[in-house]
Amino acid sequence: MNEENKGLSAKNSAQDENKKTKKIAKIVVKRDLCIGAATCIAIAGDTFELDNENIAIVKDNIGNSDEEILLAAQSCPTLAIYLYDEDGNQIFPEENK
Ligand code: SF4
Repeated sequence: MNEENKGLSAKNSAQDENKKTKKIAKIVVKRDLCIGAATCIAIAGDTFELDNENIAIVKDNIGNSDEEILLAAQSCPTLAIYLYDEDGNQIFPEENK
């Protein structure tokens, strides 16, 4: 890496660090499972919101920390929230192996 690139990456390091520590890369709400209980929004309101059909949608998949997003998924009464890492592996709900 040359000096110029080092400067550039230093500038972006905070952002990069955030991306590196983010394990959750994709959030899916199964619309047919969601009952609009809004527990997810109470826990991770910067990530989830209800649409005009009272179904949760993802408004910002980095709106909350991974911990909060995982807690929101775990708290969903119907387990309608699915979480995946950047390789597409399902993080939650945990699959039986
Ligand atoms: S907690 Fe589950 S059921 Fe309730 S709004 Fe969120 S996704 Fe839908």
